[in-house]
Amino acid sequence: MLTNDQLDKWDRESFFHPSTHLAQHARGESPNRIIKTAEGVHIQDRDGNRLLDAFAGLYCVNVGYGRQEIAEAIAEQAKELAYYHAYVGHGTEASVTLAHMVMERAPANMSKVYFGLSGSDANETNIKLIWYYNNIRGLPEKKKIISRWRGYHGSGVMTGSLTGLETFHNKFDLPRAPIIHTEAPYYFRRDDLDMSEEDFTAHCVAELEALIEREGADTIAAFIGEPVLGTGGIVPPPAGYWDAIQKVLAKHDILLVVDEVVTGFGRLGTMMGSDHYGLKPDLITIAKGLTSAYAPLSGSIVGDRMWKVLEQGTDENGPIGHGWTYSAHPIGAAAGVANLRLIDELGLVKNAGETGAYFVGAMRDALAGHTHVGDVRGEGMLCAVEFVEEKAGRKFYDPSKKVGAAVAAELASMGVIGRAMPQGDILGFAPPLCLTREEADTIVATTAKAVKNVL
Ligand code: PLP
Repeated sequence: MLTNDQLDKWDRESFFHPSTHLAQHARGESPNRIIKTAEGVHIQDRDGNRLLDAFAGLYCVNVGYGRQEIAEAIAEQAKELAYYHAYVGHGTEASVTLAHMVMERAPANMSKVYFGLSGSDANETNIKLIWYYNNIRGLPEKKKIISRWRGYHGSGVMTGSLTGLETFHNKFDLPRAPIIHTEAPYYFRRDDLDMSEEDFTAHCVAELEALIEREGADTIAAFIGEPVLGTGGIVPPPAGYWDAIQKVLAKHDILLVVDEVVTGFGRLGTMMGSDHYGLKPDLITIAKGLTSAYAPLSGSIVGDRMWKVLEQGTDENGPIGHGWTYSAHPIGAAAGVANLRLIDELGLVKNAGETGAYFVGAMRDALAGHTHVGDVRGEGMLCAVEFVEEKAGRKFYDPSKKVGAAVAAELASMGVIGRAMPQGDILGFAPPLCLTREEADTIVATTAKAVKNVL
C-alpha cells in the first residue's frame, strides 16, 4: 500500500484532475482528498475521516455506496465475458436485458435505447441523431439546437456549447454556431421583482417564441433541457413552464430532448423526470442513475417519431455510421441491471419523493430566517440554498466572493459534503436516494451551523 506521502507526490506530479485549479493543485495549495472506502451515504478518506456525502458523488450514486449486489454482478460479468462489442447487431445478455429494463421504465412514446459511456457522449449522440434525422427528412437547413442559459449538458465540443454556463466555455473557443440559447427558467433570478411565477413562465415562453421567430423555425431542429436545472443552480421550473414550452415546440416541428442525466431513475420521486412534468420527449439522455455510477454507462432513448425515420433511413443509406468501442459495455450493462433491480426492490423512487420532500422542508424551516439565505428550493432528492447579500431587493453576492464554496468548506470540516454550485452563491444537495430522515436531519442541522459560522 502506498504511504500518504507517496500518494500526495504522485497525485501532484501526475494526475490531471477535471475542474481543478491546476497550478494550486501542483503547488499543494488546494486539498487533495483521496477517498478510500464508502458505505451507504458515507465516504471515508485515507486518513479515516468519515463524511456524509450529501451530493452522492456528482449526483450519481443513487442507490448509495457499497452495494454488494452490484459489485457481485460486475465481478460475475467480468469473469464470464469482460467485453464484446455491440456493432452490427452484437450484444450480451446484460446489454439486451438492460435495454429491455430501460424501455420498460421510459415514457410510452419511446422506442429504443442506444448505450454510451457518459452523459456528455450521450448528448453528442443526440446531436448527431437529430442532424441525421433532418437530413433524411430532406430538411438539411433545420439544424440549430436551442439550449437554455444555465443548462448543463456536458463537456464535449458540441455538448460544451449546449452547456449555458460561462465557466465551461471560458477560453475554449467552442463552436457556437448551431447552438442558440434562451432564457433560463430561474424565477428567483428574474429581473422584475413584481413578476408572479405565472408571468415569469409567460416571459420565458415569449423569449423562446421571439428566438424562433428571429432565427426561423425552418432552421431549428431541437430544444434541449433538464427537467430541473442541475449544475446551473438546482432550479425547479416555474409553474406551468414545461406544458407551455412543449406547446411552442409542437407548433414549430421542433424536437424535444430531455436531459435526464440527473433526474433519470428516481431522483425527482418519479421513475423519470419526464413523468414528473408530463413531458413527451423525442430523445432522453440518461447516465448517472442508470448504474448509480458503479460503472460508466449512459444512453440515448429515442422516441417513436424519430425512430421510424432513422430505421427507414438505413434502407436507403446503409448502416448508421455511429458508435463507440465501449457502447453497451457488458460490465456497465451488468451494473445497470443490478442497479435498476435494487432501485425497485428498495423502493428508492418512492423514498426519493417522500424523504426528499421532508429534507427540503426541513432545510427551509431551519434556514429561512437567516439574514443571508435568499431561497431554499428543491424537488425530490434535490435541494439548493441560495445566499444573498441582502434579502431586501434581492441583492446578490458578487460571484468572486465564492460564499457557496466557503459554506461548503465549513460544512465538510463538520463532516457533511454539499456542493458549491458554479454560480458561486449556491450550496447544492443531491443525496443518495436511500437517505433516511435521520440522515436528512443531520445534513440540515450541520448546514444550519455551517451557514451561521460563515455568514
Ligand atoms: N447532462 C447533465 C444534466 C449533467 O448533469 C451532466 C453531468 O453532470 C451531463 C449531462 C454530463 O454527464 P458526464 O459528466 O457523465 O459526461
